[in-house]
Amino acid sequence: MKWNMAPAGMAEAAGQVMSVLAERGREAYFVGGCIRDELLGRPVHDIDLTTSALPEEIMEAFPRCVPTGLAHGTVTVLQDGFSFEVTTYRTESGYADHRRPEHVSFVSDVKEDLRRRDFTINAICSGMDGKLLDPFGGAADLERRLVRCVGEAEERFDEDALRMLRCLRFAAVLDFRIAKNTWRGLLRQRDKLAHIAVERMRSEVERIVEGPHPQRGLALIARSGLLPRGKAPFPWTGVELAAAAAQLAGIGELQSARLRWALLLHALGQSAASADGLLRAWTFPGATRSAVAGVLRAREAWLAALAEVPPGTPGGTEQLRRRWIAAVLAIGRAAAEGWLAVAEALPPGAGGGSAGPAAAEPAAEPGTGPAASPAGPPAAADAASAPAAPPDTARLRAWIAAMPLFTLGELAVTGGQVAARLDKRPGPWLGTLLQRLLLEVAAGALDNDPQVLLQEAQRMVKHDEQ
Ligand code: ATP
Ligand code: MG
Repeated sequence: MKWNMAPAGMAEAAGQVMSVLAERGREAYFVGGCIRDELLGRPVHDIDLTTSALPEEIMEAFPRCVPTGLAHGTVTVLQDGFSFEVTTYRTESGYADHRRPEHVSFVSDVKEDLRRRDFTINAICSGMDGKLLDPFGGAADLERRLVRCVGEAEERFDEDALRMLRCLRFAAVLDFRIAKNTWRGLLRQRDKLAHIAVERMRSEVERIVEGPHPQRGLALIARSGLLPRGKAPFPWTGVELAAAAAQLAGIGELQSARLRWALLLHALGQSAASADGLLRAWTFPGATRSAVAGVLRAREAWLAALAEVPPGTPGGTEQLRRRWIAAVLAIGRAAAEGWLAVAEALPPGAGGGSAGPAAAEPAAEPGTGPAASPAGPPAAADAASAPAAPPDTARLRAWIAAMPLFTLGELAVTGGQVAARLDKRPGPWLGTLLQRLLLEVAAGALDNDPQVLLQEAQRMVKHDEQ
């Protein structure tokens, strides 16, 4: 291996680990994703090794190591500031739960180890000399840009159902096709996805959506019909997914993962509340969930403003501006600007208004019929045109940019000062009053000056009492 794609120093350190094993008379090879990525000219993040040495021999050979998965033969070796997973050659058997093997046996032939791996492109190994050991034609599949199971696809997906999602993930991230037999095996076994933990599904789907070819991945998800069979809710028909696909042309241009999720859930017609529920069910971390829901809430706030101020209302622009500023204060600047970025990623005419694919046709699942060919171009979708006009994002951005403050903490008076000036006991009224002051300052109607604010507070209270 040349290791042009690995970080500086990593290859030397991995070579060092190899030499130590060789000195002890053990075989060792670089294997799996690192070989695949190096051959593809993609960045190599970690280098894994496979060896004939048993776990206890590995631990003995390397004073600095962590017994990561001893039962499966994996030891993490620390070398020159890098860490390497060193795994004993093994075979697996008895996948009773379609998730993980019941038995792991250490073996002496590296080819047996390569045979247990999922796809040919992940079943290549190489020694120090760079010569490939590639019994399943993985290098040729890399050349042909093909994801293909090692062995019989149907059997391999039955053993471990997560491999089906890995298959879609590799095809999406690498922009590869899926071999015919592999695709067929996947369609036959897709019900087995029900055995896979939601967290593991999520992590594959995240890599698809957040990777370099999200649209291709989503088309594969739609055509495979895989996700509705998992443990997590996936309440869309093939028709709805195809309609959403028409709105997702710009998803790859969004750099932020959260905005990609927001765009996707928008295109799938989700409200902020239902998106929040779905992301929770999919075990997304709370921070991601609330960021995505916040973006969709910004959309809802803008639509509500539009509904309350019909076109042609005298002074309508100023009313819209104040409503938008109130929304920005309520949901935060990041969510509001996130929504504008999402709206800009929508195709012209797709609105950013009331979302949702129009499911005019009866639900049909793609990819089930005889026409289910290996991964091809995404199914052409009849764009479901959302009714509302796209927001004038430049104008909404300018309104945000002109806001002098965004939070109560930036207001030049505290609640205590306001209560003291009014000589009233603090209570719920105080929070409401501060919010009104904040809006006036944010909208540019009041200076953020303590005297100005206290006077205005008095005026507001007096006015309310009349
Ligand atoms: P990446 O790290 O980019 O996801 P990778 O190929 O390194 O790619 P890992 O999940 O790190 O993927 O797994 C390392 C190797 O272990 C794979 O290349 C493959 O050979 C094997 N492997 C991983 N998961 C499975 C599985 N579910 N079934 C069979 N083999 C697997
Ligand atoms: Mg890896």
